[in-house]
Amino acid sequence: MSFSAVDVITTKRDGSALSDGQITWVLEAYQRGEVAEEQMSALLMAVFFRGMADRELRTWTDCMIASGETLNLGGLSRPSVDKHSTGGVGDKISLILAPLVAACGACVPQLSGRGLGHTGGTLDKLESIPGWRAALTNDEIRTQLESVGAVICAAGAGLAPIDRRLYALRDVTGTVESIPLISSSIMSKKIAEGTHALVLDVKVGRGAFIKTIERARELASTMVALGESHGVATVARLTAMDQPLGRAVGNALEVVESVDVLRGGGPSDVRDLTLALAREMLGLVGIDVDPAVKLDDGSAYDVYRSMIQAQGGDPDAVLTPAPIHDVITADTSGFVTVVDALGVGVAAWRLGAGRARKEDPVSAGAGVICLVREGDRVEVGEPLFELYADDDEHLARGREALRGAATIGDDVPVSIGILLERITK
Ligand code: URA
Repeated sequence: MSFSAVDVITTKRDGSALSDGQITWVLEAYQRGEVAEEQMSALLMAVFFRGMADRELRTWTDCMIASGETLNLGGLSRPSVDKHSTGGVGDKISLILAPLVAACGACVPQLSGRGLGHTGGTLDKLESIPGWRAALTNDEIRTQLESVGAVICAAGAGLAPIDRRLYALRDVTGTVESIPLISSSIMSKKIAEGTHALVLDVKVGRGAFIKTIERARELASTMVALGESHGVATVARLTAMDQPLGRAVGNALEVVESVDVLRGGGPSDVRDLTLALAREMLGLVGIDVDPAVKLDDGSAYDVYRSMIQAQGGDPDAVLTPAPIHDVITADTSGFVTVVDALGVGVAAWRLGAGRARKEDPVSAGAGVICLVREGDRVEVGEPLFELYADDDEHLARGREALRGAATIGDDVPVSIGILLERITK
Protein backbone atom coordinates (compact mmCIF):
# COMPACT_ATOMS: atom_id res chain seq x y z
CA MET A 1 0.00 0.00 0.00
CA SER A 2 1.37 3.43 -0.83
CA PHE A 3 0.90 6.52 1.31
CA SER A 4 1.37 10.22 0.85
CA ALA A 5 2.47 12.70 3.49
CA VAL A 6 -0.35 15.09 2.52
CA ASP A 7 -2.97 12.34 3.06
CA VAL A 8 -1.52 11.51 6.46
CA ILE A 9 -1.55 15.20 7.45
CA THR A 10 -5.11 15.84 6.24
CA THR A 11 -6.43 12.65 7.87
CA LYS A 12 -5.22 13.89 11.25
CA ARG A 13 -6.08 17.53 10.53
CA ASP A 14 -9.70 16.55 9.84
CA GLY A 15 -9.98 14.56 13.06
CA SER A 16 -9.79 10.95 11.84
CA ALA A 17 -7.52 8.35 13.37
CA LEU A 18 -4.37 7.42 11.48
CA SER A 19 -4.03 3.76 10.50
CA ASP A 20 -1.04 1.79 11.79
CA GLY A 21 0.23 1.71 8.21
CA GLN A 22 0.07 5.50 7.90
CA ILE A 23 1.94 6.04 11.18
CA THR A 24 4.65 3.51 10.39
CA TRP A 25 5.10 4.84 6.89
CA VAL A 26 5.26 8.51 7.84
CA LEU A 27 7.79 8.05 10.65
CA GLU A 28 9.99 5.69 8.63
CA ALA A 29 9.86 7.94 5.58
CA TYR A 30 10.69 10.97 7.75
CA GLN A 31 13.68 9.13 9.15
CA ARG A 32 14.84 8.30 5.61
CA GLY A 33 14.51 11.99 4.68
CA GLU A 34 11.55 11.37 2.35
CA VAL A 35 9.02 13.39 4.35
CA ALA A 36 9.99 17.06 4.51
CA GLU A 37 10.45 18.95 7.78
CA GLU A 38 7.51 21.23 6.91
CA GLN A 39 5.27 18.20 6.38
CA MET A 40 6.28 16.68 9.70
CA SER A 41 5.74 20.10 11.32
CA ALA A 42 2.19 20.18 9.93
CA LEU A 43 1.52 16.65 11.17
CA LEU A 44 2.81 17.50 14.65
CA MET A 45 0.50 20.52 14.74
CA ALA A 46 -2.43 18.34 13.64
CA VAL A 47 -1.58 15.87 16.45
CA PHE A 48 -1.29 18.80 18.86
CA PHE A 49 -4.90 19.83 18.12
CA ARG A 50 -6.51 16.45 17.44
CA GLY A 51 -4.59 14.20 19.84
CA MET A 52 -4.12 10.48 19.33
CA ALA A 53 -6.21 7.48 20.36
CA ASP A 54 -4.53 4.78 22.49
CA ARG A 55 -3.91 2.52 19.51
CA GLU A 56 -2.38 5.32 17.44
CA LEU A 57 -0.14 6.38 20.30
CA ARG A 58 1.03 2.80 20.87
CA THR A 59 1.96 2.44 17.21
CA TRP A 60 3.61 5.89 17.11
CA THR A 61 5.69 4.97 20.19
CA ASP A 62 6.58 1.54 18.70
CA CYS A 63 7.93 3.28 15.61
CA MET A 64 9.98 5.70 17.72
CA ILE A 65 11.49 2.75 19.61
CA ALA A 66 12.15 0.91 16.32
CA SER A 67 13.98 3.97 14.95
CA GLY A 68 17.06 2.89 16.93
CA GLU A 69 18.56 0.24 19.16
CA THR A 70 17.08 -1.34 22.29
CA LEU A 71 19.28 -2.15 25.26
CA ASN A 72 19.00 -5.73 26.42
CA LEU A 73 19.01 -5.92 30.21
CA GLY A 74 18.01 -9.59 30.24
CA GLY A 75 20.39 -11.99 31.91
CA LEU A 76 21.36 -9.62 34.75
CA SER A 77 21.21 -11.18 38.19
CA ARG A 78 18.82 -8.51 39.57
CA PRO A 79 15.56 -7.05 38.24
CA SER A 80 15.92 -3.62 36.68
CA VAL A 81 13.82 -0.60 37.62
CA ASP A 82 14.22 3.03 36.65
CA LYS A 83 12.71 6.39 37.59
CA HIS A 84 11.93 9.31 35.32
CA SER A 85 11.10 12.79 36.52
CA THR A 86 9.42 15.31 34.25
CA GLY A 87 11.78 17.92 35.68
CA GLY A 88 11.78 20.15 38.70
CA VAL A 89 13.85 22.81 40.42
CA GLY A 90 16.36 21.31 42.88
CA ASP A 91 15.38 17.81 41.76
CA LYS A 92 18.46 15.83 42.75
CA ILE A 93 16.47 12.72 43.71
CA SER A 94 18.12 10.43 41.11
CA LEU A 95 21.54 10.89 42.71
CA ILE A 96 20.24 9.39 45.96
CA LEU A 97 17.54 7.08 44.62
CA ALA A 98 19.61 5.07 42.12
CA PRO A 99 22.22 3.91 44.67
CA LEU A 100 19.54 3.46 47.34
CA VAL A 101 17.41 1.13 45.22
CA ALA A 102 20.54 -0.75 44.15
CA ALA A 103 21.47 -1.14 47.83
CA CYS A 104 18.05 -2.75 48.33
CA GLY A 105 18.71 -5.41 45.67
CA ALA A 106 17.45 -4.10 42.30
CA CYS A 107 19.53 -2.64 39.51
CA VAL A 108 18.89 0.87 38.25
CA PRO A 109 19.76 1.89 34.68
CA GLN A 110 19.29 5.68 34.71
CA LEU A 111 19.94 6.89 31.19
CA SER A 112 19.53 10.64 31.46
CA GLY A 113 19.66 13.85 29.49
CA ARG A 114 21.17 17.23 30.13
CA GLY A 115 19.27 20.17 31.56
CA LEU A 116 17.70 22.76 29.33
CA GLY A 117 15.99 25.88 30.66
CA HIS A 118 15.21 26.38 34.32
CA THR A 119 15.30 22.73 35.43
CA GLY A 120 18.74 21.19 35.85
CA GLY A 121 19.93 17.93 34.34
CA THR A 122 21.20 15.00 36.38
CA LEU A 123 24.29 14.63 34.16
CA ASP A 124 25.23 18.29 34.66
CA LYS A 125 25.07 17.78 38.42
CA LEU A 126 27.29 14.69 38.37
CA GLU A 127 29.75 16.33 35.98
CA SER A 128 30.65 18.75 38.78
CA ILE A 129 32.51 15.77 40.33
CA PRO A 130 36.11 15.78 39.00
CA GLY A 131 36.79 12.91 36.60
CA TRP A 132 33.18 11.66 36.39
CA ARG A 133 32.29 10.45 32.92
CA ALA A 134 28.73 10.50 31.54
CA ALA A 135 29.34 8.57 28.31
CA LEU A 136 29.36 4.79 28.71
CA THR A 137 29.14 2.04 26.10
CA ASN A 138 26.30 -0.46 26.31
CA ASP A 139 28.80 -3.08 27.55
CA GLU A 140 30.01 -0.73 30.28
CA ILE A 141 26.40 -0.09 31.35
CA ARG A 142 25.71 -3.83 31.68
CA THR A 143 28.98 -4.48 33.51
CA GLN A 144 28.36 -1.66 35.99
CA LEU A 145 24.75 -2.76 36.57
CA GLU A 146 26.03 -6.21 37.46
CA SER A 147 28.94 -5.05 39.65
CA VAL A 148 27.57 -1.89 41.33
CA GLY A 149 23.82 -2.14 40.68
CA ALA A 150 23.33 1.48 39.59
CA VAL A 151 24.34 3.51 36.56
CA ILE A 152 23.55 7.13 35.81
CA CYS A 153 24.88 7.98 32.37
CA ALA A 154 24.07 9.76 29.12
CA ALA A 155 21.37 8.16 27.01
CA GLY A 156 23.29 7.12 23.90
CA ALA A 157 22.43 8.57 20.52
CA GLY A 158 21.17 5.14 19.45
CA LEU A 159 18.05 5.05 21.68
CA ALA A 160 14.94 6.28 19.84
CA PRO A 161 17.04 8.62 17.65
CA ILE A 162 13.98 9.94 15.82
CA ASP A 163 12.95 11.63 19.09
CA ARG A 164 15.87 14.04 18.81
CA ARG A 165 14.65 15.26 15.41
CA LEU A 166 10.99 15.34 16.41
CA TYR A 167 11.77 17.18 19.65
CA ALA A 168 13.89 19.79 17.84
CA LEU A 169 11.02 20.32 15.41
CA ARG A 170 8.44 20.54 18.21
CA ASP A 171 10.63 23.10 19.93
CA VAL A 172 10.47 25.50 16.97
CA THR A 173 6.85 24.83 15.94
CA GLY A 174 5.03 25.37 19.25
CA THR A 175 4.12 21.67 19.58
CA VAL A 176 6.05 20.66 22.70
CA GLU A 177 3.03 20.80 25.05
CA SER A 178 1.06 17.90 23.60
CA ILE A 179 0.29 14.97 25.91
CA PRO A 180 0.70 12.25 23.22
CA LEU A 181 3.89 13.81 21.89
CA ILE A 182 5.43 14.26 25.36
CA SER A 183 4.36 10.74 26.40
CA SER A 184 5.76 9.03 23.30
CA SER A 185 8.97 11.07 23.55
CA ILE A 186 9.64 10.12 27.18
CA MET A 187 8.38 6.55 27.03
CA SER A 188 10.10 5.56 23.76
CA LYS A 189 13.48 6.34 25.33
CA LYS A 190 12.65 4.58 28.60
CA ILE A 191 11.26 1.48 26.87
CA ALA A 192 14.27 1.34 24.50
CA GLU A 193 16.53 1.46 27.56
CA GLY A 194 15.25 -2.04 28.41
CA THR A 195 14.17 -1.47 32.02
CA HIS A 196 11.69 -4.02 33.43
CA ALA A 197 9.84 -1.48 35.55
CA LEU A 198 9.52 2.28 35.76
CA VAL A 199 8.34 4.86 38.27
CA LEU A 200 7.36 8.25 36.87
CA ASP A 201 7.63 11.36 39.00
CA VAL A 202 5.27 13.77 37.28
CA LYS A 203 5.92 17.24 38.66
CA VAL A 204 3.06 19.70 38.88
CA GLY A 205 3.03 23.34 39.95
CA ARG A 206 4.74 26.69 39.51
CA GLY A 207 8.21 25.26 38.83
CA ALA A 208 7.09 22.36 36.61
CA PHE A 209 6.24 22.41 32.93
CA ILE A 210 2.82 20.96 33.84
CA LYS A 211 0.95 23.55 35.91
CA THR A 212 -2.37 21.86 36.72
CA ILE A 213 -3.23 18.61 38.45
CA GLU A 214 -5.67 17.68 35.64
CA ARG A 215 -2.92 17.87 32.96
CA ALA A 216 -0.51 16.01 35.24
CA ARG A 217 -3.09 13.24 35.72
CA GLU A 218 -3.65 12.98 31.98
CA LEU A 219 0.08 12.87 31.20
CA ALA A 220 0.73 10.33 33.95
CA SER A 221 -2.06 7.97 32.93
CA THR A 222 -1.07 8.17 29.26
CA MET A 223 2.55 7.28 30.10
CA VAL A 224 1.52 4.51 32.52
CA ALA A 225 -0.69 2.95 29.83
CA LEU A 226 2.13 3.17 27.27
CA GLY A 227 4.63 1.52 29.64
CA GLU A 228 2.23 -1.28 30.56
CA SER A 229 1.31 -1.92 26.92
CA HIS A 230 5.02 -2.44 26.21
CA GLY A 231 5.50 -4.88 29.09
CA VAL A 232 7.14 -2.35 31.45
CA ALA A 233 5.46 -2.34 34.89
CA THR A 234 4.80 1.39 35.38
CA VAL A 235 3.48 3.55 38.23
CA ALA A 236 3.33 7.35 38.39
CA ARG A 237 3.41 9.67 41.38
CA LEU A 238 2.21 13.23 40.94
CA THR A 239 4.39 15.45 43.12
CA ALA A 240 4.22 19.14 43.96
CA MET A 241 6.79 21.46 42.37
CA ASP A 242 5.64 24.83 43.70
CA GLN A 243 8.72 25.44 45.81
CA PRO A 244 12.18 23.97 45.09
CA LEU A 245 13.00 20.49 46.32
CA GLY A 246 15.44 20.76 49.22
CA ARG A 247 17.59 23.85 49.74
CA ALA A 248 20.22 23.59 47.00
CA VAL A 249 19.61 24.52 43.35
CA GLY A 250 22.70 24.27 41.13
CA ASN A 251 25.00 21.48 40.04
CA ALA A 252 27.71 21.02 42.68
CA LEU A 253 25.43 22.48 45.37
CA GLU A 254 22.92 19.70 44.67
CA VAL A 255 25.56 16.97 44.72
CA VAL A 256 26.66 18.17 48.17
CA GLU A 257 23.05 18.12 49.40
CA SER A 258 22.50 14.63 47.93
CA VAL A 259 25.55 13.34 49.79
CA ASP A 260 24.14 14.88 52.98
CA VAL A 261 20.96 12.84 52.48
CA LEU A 262 22.96 9.69 51.67
CA ARG A 263 24.84 10.20 54.95
CA GLY A 264 21.62 10.38 56.96
CA GLY A 265 21.04 14.15 57.00
CA GLY A 266 19.80 16.68 54.45
CA PRO A 267 16.39 18.28 53.99
CA SER A 268 13.40 16.16 55.00
CA ASP A 269 11.45 16.77 51.77
CA VAL A 270 14.31 15.31 49.69
CA ARG A 271 14.61 12.32 51.99
CA ASP A 272 10.84 11.69 52.13
CA LEU A 273 10.33 11.89 48.36
CA THR A 274 13.35 9.65 47.73
CA LEU A 275 11.99 7.03 50.12
CA ALA A 276 8.48 7.19 48.62
CA LEU A 277 9.83 6.68 45.09
CA ALA A 278 12.20 3.93 46.29
CA ARG A 279 9.25 2.07 47.84
CA GLU A 280 7.36 2.31 44.54
CA MET A 281 10.36 1.03 42.58
CA LEU A 282 10.99 -1.88 44.92
CA GLY A 283 7.28 -2.76 44.97
CA LEU A 284 7.23 -3.01 41.16
CA VAL A 285 10.03 -5.58 41.14
CA GLY A 286 8.83 -7.49 44.21
CA ILE A 287 11.69 -6.63 46.60
CA ASP A 288 10.53 -6.43 50.21
CA VAL A 289 13.28 -4.31 51.79
CA ASP A 290 12.76 -1.08 53.75
CA PRO A 291 14.81 1.58 51.92
CA ALA A 292 14.95 3.76 55.07
CA VAL A 293 17.11 1.08 56.69
CA LYS A 294 19.53 1.05 53.71
CA LEU A 295 19.74 4.83 53.77
CA ASP A 296 20.37 5.00 57.50
CA ASP A 297 22.90 2.15 57.72
CA GLY A 298 25.18 3.69 55.05
CA SER A 299 24.61 0.99 52.40
CA ALA A 300 23.17 3.48 49.89
CA TYR A 301 26.13 5.83 50.42
CA ASP A 302 28.54 2.93 49.80
CA VAL A 303 26.80 2.15 46.49
CA TYR A 304 26.88 5.86 45.57
CA ARG A 305 30.66 5.94 46.11
CA SER A 306 31.15 2.83 43.98
CA MET A 307 28.86 4.25 41.28
CA ILE A 308 30.87 7.49 41.09
CA GLN A 309 34.22 5.66 41.15
CA ALA A 310 33.15 3.21 38.45
CA GLN A 311 32.66 6.18 36.12
CA GLY A 312 36.03 7.76 36.95
CA GLY A 313 34.78 10.25 39.55
CA ASP A 314 36.31 11.04 42.93
CA PRO A 315 33.56 10.73 45.57
CA ASP A 316 35.84 12.44 48.12
CA ALA A 317 36.49 15.53 46.00
CA VAL A 318 35.50 18.70 47.83
CA LEU A 319 32.92 20.53 45.72
CA THR A 320 33.02 24.24 46.34
CA PRO A 321 30.43 26.86 45.48
CA ALA A 322 31.30 29.48 42.84
CA PRO A 323 33.44 32.34 44.28
CA ILE A 324 31.14 35.39 43.94
CA HIS A 325 28.61 35.32 46.72
CA ASP A 326 25.62 37.39 47.81
CA VAL A 327 22.62 37.11 50.10
CA ILE A 328 19.01 38.26 49.68
CA THR A 329 17.26 39.23 52.90
CA ALA A 330 13.65 39.62 54.01
CA ASP A 331 12.32 43.16 53.65
CA THR A 332 9.55 42.52 56.16
CA SER A 333 8.70 40.13 59.01
CA GLY A 334 6.07 37.40 58.79
CA PHE A 335 5.47 33.94 57.40
CA VAL A 336 6.95 32.79 54.10
CA THR A 337 3.86 32.08 51.99
CA VAL A 338 5.59 31.41 48.65
CA VAL A 339 9.07 30.29 47.60
CA ASP A 340 8.59 30.35 43.87
CA ALA A 341 10.34 27.36 42.28
CA LEU A 342 10.21 28.97 38.84
CA GLY A 343 11.87 32.17 40.09
CA VAL A 344 14.56 30.19 41.91
CA GLY A 345 15.11 27.90 38.89
CA VAL A 346 15.46 30.85 36.52
CA ALA A 347 17.83 32.55 38.99
CA ALA A 348 20.06 29.45 39.22
CA TRP A 349 20.05 29.24 35.44
CA ARG A 350 21.06 32.90 35.06
CA LEU A 351 23.71 32.55 37.73
CA GLY A 352 25.30 30.03 35.33
CA ALA A 353 23.98 26.64 36.52
CA GLY A 354 21.81 26.03 33.44
CA ARG A 355 21.97 26.43 29.70
CA ALA A 356 19.76 28.14 27.10
CA ARG A 357 21.06 26.08 24.14
CA LYS A 358 22.16 22.48 24.36
CA GLU A 359 25.74 23.36 23.31
CA ASP A 360 26.20 25.91 26.15
CA PRO A 361 28.59 25.09 29.03
CA VAL A 362 27.31 25.14 32.63
CA SER A 363 29.02 26.35 35.77
CA ALA A 364 29.64 23.64 38.38
CA GLY A 365 29.51 25.92 41.41
CA ALA A 366 26.81 28.46 40.50
CA GLY A 367 23.36 28.36 42.04
CA VAL A 368 21.05 29.27 44.89
CA ILE A 369 20.70 27.99 48.43
CA CYS A 370 17.15 28.55 49.69
CA LEU A 371 17.40 29.29 53.38
CA VAL A 372 13.64 29.30 53.98
CA ARG A 373 10.66 27.13 53.10
CA GLU A 374 6.98 27.96 52.84
CA GLY A 375 5.53 28.25 56.34
CA ASP A 376 8.76 29.45 57.99
CA ARG A 377 8.64 32.51 60.22
CA VAL A 378 11.18 35.18 59.25
CA GLU A 379 12.17 38.55 60.70
CA VAL A 380 13.05 41.61 58.63
CA GLY A 381 16.70 41.47 57.50
CA GLU A 382 16.93 37.68 57.88
CA PRO A 383 18.65 35.92 54.92
CA LEU A 384 16.29 34.17 52.47
CA PHE A 385 18.59 33.09 49.63
CA GLU A 386 22.34 32.70 49.11
CA LEU A 387 23.54 33.21 45.54
CA TYR A 388 26.75 31.88 43.97
CA ALA A 389 28.20 32.84 40.58
CA ASP A 390 31.52 32.83 38.75
CA ASP A 391 31.43 36.58 38.01
CA ASP A 392 29.58 39.80 38.88
CA GLU A 393 27.56 39.86 35.66
CA HIS A 394 26.01 36.44 36.30
CA LEU A 395 25.43 37.40 39.92
CA ALA A 396 23.50 40.52 38.92
CA ARG A 397 21.33 38.55 36.48
CA GLY A 398 20.57 35.90 39.09
CA ARG A 399 19.74 38.55 41.69
CA GLU A 400 17.30 40.17 39.33
CA ALA A 401 15.52 36.84 38.67
CA LEU A 402 15.15 36.22 42.41
CA ARG A 403 13.33 39.50 42.95
CA GLY A 404 9.91 38.55 44.32
CA ALA A 405 10.72 34.84 44.46
CA ALA A 406 9.78 34.77 48.14
CA THR A 407 6.51 36.24 49.42
CA ILE A 408 6.06 37.06 53.10
CA GLY A 409 2.61 37.47 54.64
CA ASP A 410 0.81 37.53 57.97
CA ASP A 411 -0.77 34.09 57.85
CA VAL A 412 0.77 30.62 57.88
CA PRO A 413 0.13 29.12 54.41
CA VAL A 414 -1.76 25.84 54.07
CA SER A 415 0.66 23.07 53.06
CA ILE A 416 -0.48 20.47 50.54
CA GLY A 417 2.64 18.32 50.98
CA ILE A 418 4.70 16.91 48.13
CA LEU A 419 3.07 13.55 47.38
CA LEU A 420 -0.19 14.37 45.64
CA GLU A 421 -1.57 11.37 43.75
CA ARG A 422 -0.63 7.90 42.60
CA ILE A 423 -1.58 6.70 39.12
CA THR A 424 -1.55 3.04 38.17
CA LYS A 425 -2.94 1.19 35.17
N1 URA B 1 10.99 15.34 28.00
C1 URA B 1 11.15 14.60 26.89
O1 URA B 1 12.03 13.75 26.80
N2 URA B 1 10.29 14.80 25.88
C2 URA B 1 9.31 15.71 25.92
O2 URA B 1 8.57 15.81 24.98
C3 URA B 1 9.16 16.49 27.09
C4 URA B 1 10.02 16.28 28.13
